[in-house]
Amino acid sequence: MTIRFDDRVAIVTGAGVGLGRSHALGLAARGAKVVVNDLGVATDGSGMSSDAALAVVEEIKAAGGEAMAHGADVSDPAGVDDMVQRTMATWGRIDIAVNNAGILRDKTFGKLSLDDFRKVVDVHLMGSATVSHACWSIMREQGYGRIVLTSSGSGLYGNVGQSNYGAAKAAMMGLMNVLHIEGARDNIRVNVLAPTAATRMTESLIPADALALMAPETITPGLLYLVSEDAPSRVMLGAGAGCFAQTRVYETQGITLTGDITPEDVAERFADVADPDGQEELSNAFEQTRKYVINAANARGLT
Ligand code: NAD
Repeated sequence: MTIRFDDRVAIVTGAGVGLGRSHALGLAARGAKVVVNDLGVATDGSGMSSDAALAVVEEIKAAGGEAMAHGADVSDPAGVDDMVQRTMATWGRIDIAVNNAGILRDKTFGKLSLDDFRKVVDVHLMGSATVSHACWSIMREQGYGRIVLTSSGSGLYGNVGQSNYGAAKAAMMGLMNVLHIEGARDNIRVNVLAPTAATRMTESLIPADALALMAPETITPGLLYLVSEDAPSRVMLGAGAGCFAQTRVYETQGITLTGDITPEDVAERFADVADPDGQEELSNAFEQTRKYVINAANARGLT
């Protein structure tokens, strides 16, 4: 099996440096026409420059590929619309949207201003929603679309000082779940990538010998699979240093109480509530509701 992207058009956000640059180069090397989006900001979102995106475009062209730069701020709907319109005018389709752009404004929750909370949510969550939304009707009409949302271990598992970032990154799972369901009939597949890589975002946080194993290029092959023709959908792929693992959400079988239910009843049975034996992955919200209603009816002898 060879994964190729000939005749496919991809938008990669935040593709001037780091992971996005690696993803853009990886897509172009396998035949995709790539929009290298980057606002060219510092890690905290300050400043602005087109230099990095233009350099990636030059690198792709020098290797014989096709690329164009666009400096839209992913959280600005007008800028994103312009990017999508220019892509359509140039190449006539959009097959792949890699939502990768991101910033950090780390502080422990008590010291974090709501402005810094909102800004991080704006870039990561609203940025991913804005770019995906602008591509959505195009992908539906094409009957083909591959979307990746970039999450993080901080969102899936937590990390000190990153309540804003963790909340925004966990939201990728919720966005994926719904877009996966809504996109299925139009062959739009939606996945989450949770990378951990040596980039300017992590260079001061992780020891040098670990960083040496964590080049972005060790992650990009996973991203390329997630946006390929035979991609899965609704997968959360952890990736770093050449390791790939899937994060899944399970619900335990749980318990069903009847009568006058007290908090003490729940406390007493909590080991049973949490018992992983028979836990399962639910495919949508109503499956959970149905499970509870059926269990409640059974417990009351109504079925
Ligand atoms: P990076 O700082 O090296 O690159 C981020 C890029 O996004 C920069 O080029 C920046 O200019 C661009 N950008 C920022 N805000 C933008 C906006 N509003 N519009 C357009 N472009 C914007 O970061 P990275 O480490 O390569 O991270 C890439 C993605 O992976 C981010 O979403 C990040 O949160 C996520 N991530 C990274 C790691 C890691 O270990 N590096 C871990 C978990 C998640």
